[in-house]
Amino acid sequence: MAATIISGKEIAAQIREELKKEVAELKETHNVVPGLVTILVGEDPASISYVTAKQRTSHELNFHSIQDSQSVDISEDDLLALIDKYNKDPKIHGILVQLPLPKHIDEKKILNAIDPDKDVDGFHPVNVGRLMIGGKEAKFLPCTPAGIQELIVRAGVNTEGAEVVVVGRSNIVGKPIANIMLQKAAGANATVTVVHTRTKDMASHCKRADVLIVAAGVPDLVKPEWIKPGACVIDVGVNRVGEKISKKTGKKIAILKGDVNFEAAQEIAGSITPVPGGVGPMTITMLMKNTVKAAKFASGVQV
Ligand code: NAP
Repeated sequence: MAATIISGKEIAAQIREELKKEVAELKETHNVVPGLVTILVGEDPASISYVTAKQRTSHELNFHSIQDSQSVDISEDDLLALIDKYNKDPKIHGILVQLPLPKHIDEKKILNAIDPDKDVDGFHPVNVGRLMIGGKEAKFLPCTPAGIQELIVRAGVNTEGAEVVVVGRSNIVGKPIANIMLQKAAGANATVTVVHTRTKDMASHCKRADVLIVAAGVPDLVKPEWIKPGACVIDVGVNRVGEKISKKTGKKIAILKGDVNFEAAQEIAGSITPVPGGVGPMTITMLMKNTVKAAKFASGVQV
């Protein structure tokens, strides 16, 4: 039987509706409006499109949102001063610096300058530490891994005592999702294995997985025979494998593929995310969720 498709598009839309209500309630009960600033340095087309999408979503949710575009030659000191300004601005609850930054700026220094309580991307070392500790300490989960957990939970997949195998150990996806799944908490409590390029027999680990999360960036890396029948497969990979003409706009667009052969895998898996339309739409939505959370923390509202 073909697998259930876990639609990130639909789940993200559902979460955004919930957030809209939370935003209205926060305004009504505490006169607080979540504030998000997106800082863009330079004019990289991909970065512009990411920031535009984040701004569009924050407007849809009735946030107070600021798009702060800076010239590509802004100095590191001036960028640090800008972050300091937003750190001190009580109307701003979330600060997002769009990466990558120009080479003359130390990215780490910039990200570490963001107030951890406004770090809605969840990349500040303080928030990475909070995630490791877990429980109430974990304030902001990084957006893509948080989105993966939401997909698994809302698809009704039980992770309690399940074998979760994560392919990839990056700081933005692999390591944090492994940590999230390991937490002593609902939607987690899993037995977690992380595999990577030095793993000896990747297939044998994947074959054990009740939940297989793949974030390697290699098209078709996971073979259909590596998937346990009935498993939940979350394909995080986004690989550009060619171009096509969009039927909607008539413009050239990238052909995207995941790290899993979707057609073959859906005949074996119990549930699976497509690419595109799976994990992708969740990332921005979780950024919005973190911003609402940040506004609540700042105003002393129970989260
Ligand atoms: P990354 O930093 O390049 O890390 C890739 C990880 O996969 C590394 O740990 C690497 O192992 C491992 N890996 C690569 N090739 C492998 C192989 N042949 N066998 C086993 N392990 C292998 O990538 P990332 O930032 O985590 O992103 C991963 C994918 O997810 C990319 O396609 C990216 O575009 C996508 N992504 C999507 C979203 C979204 O919102 N949808 C967000 C973030 C990322 P080593 O550590 O040993 O090198």
